[in-house]
Amino acid sequence: MTLATTMQQRQSVAQYRAAGLANVDWIDSDKLEVGDVVAVNAERSEVEVLYRESDMHHSLQLTNRCNSNCLMCSQPPTAQDDEWMIHESLEAIRHLAVSPQVLGLSGGEPLLLGPHLRTVLDAIGNKHPETRIEVLTNGRLLANMDQARPLLENLATRVTWLVPLYGHADFIHDFVVQAPGAFEQTLGGLLNLQSYRQPVQLRIVLIRPVLEVLPALCTFIGRNLPFVKEVALMACEPIGFALANRELCEVDLLDWQDTLQLAARQLSRHSVPFLFMNAPLCALPKNLHAFAHRSISDWKNVYAPICESCQVKASCSGFFAWHERGWKPAKTIQIIHEEYVA
Ligand code: SF4
Repeated sequence: MTLATTMQQRQSVAQYRAAGLANVDWIDSDKLEVGDVVAVNAERSEVEVLYRESDMHHSLQLTNRCNSNCLMCSQPPTAQDDEWMIHESLEAIRHLAVSPQVLGLSGGEPLLLGPHLRTVLDAIGNKHPETRIEVLTNGRLLANMDQARPLLENLATRVTWLVPLYGHADFIHDFVVQAPGAFEQTLGGLLNLQSYRQPVQLRIVLIRPVLEVLPALCTFIGRNLPFVKEVALMACEPIGFALANRELCEVDLLDWQDTLQLAARQLSRHSVPFLFMNAPLCALPKNLHAFAHRSISDWKNVYAPICESCQVKASCSGFFAWHERGWKPAKTIQIIHEEYVA
């Protein structure tokens, strides 16, 4: 598909087609840029953007199916067979003109792809050897060595595994992910990742049941999972199941400052690196600002009007675009903000 904004460009495409290249066509849209990868729906005269080259954060969704049902899932899973998403992703990988620095692979649960996940990883490794891949997975199926071995053995592609852990005991983690047995399976998966020396980022979403045990969870990680590369403490994305479970998911992080400090202390004590994601700087204690990252993908990242005059905006993650329908990570943003105004 060629982006053709001038008559001359369209005529060139027409000439190609007349010469027998029937799979070449043009599109004109001010929403597209050269390098974007699109899927064409010819019947509806529509294209869907699979990959936008100018974005800062890049990811491909491999499936919408999942074997968990997390209380705060931002993208509630569906049960239908969606193997077409794998083929679409492979096509997108094949068509990337410029190798991204980092490419996220998400779901649903990517491990449900079975052997196809290794196919996708190898495809990226072969076509884009400099790209670092981040696979967001609950890790449960990796507890089974019959699945872990073919995926991880002789894996040449650079992958970091982003694995959520929501409690230091089964009843908490299993409750948050709404799947009995998930805690044991995720731990088994983490140990198998470690046995193949795979880098792991543990992900902890800061909803109420998790915050209630956060220091204990961080101690558990320090004692039992010291091999993890880092721990990401993430403010909840106010969308999907999080809206339906609002009483458990909506928190004001300013009410949990002592908990965040304790958690940070536990991780530091065990020399486990950590970072905060999706949390605006004014929702965090000042001594933890250095650990905050601008993590929200650019296409869903917004700032409040008051942020325009904030001195730390350039290094602040801001908000999810849909926070107005949901909530901000800290309701008292304006009061705190004033501390930053010159
Ligand atoms: S006022 Fe806005 S830019 Fe400043 S720290 Fe808060 S959210 Fe970030």
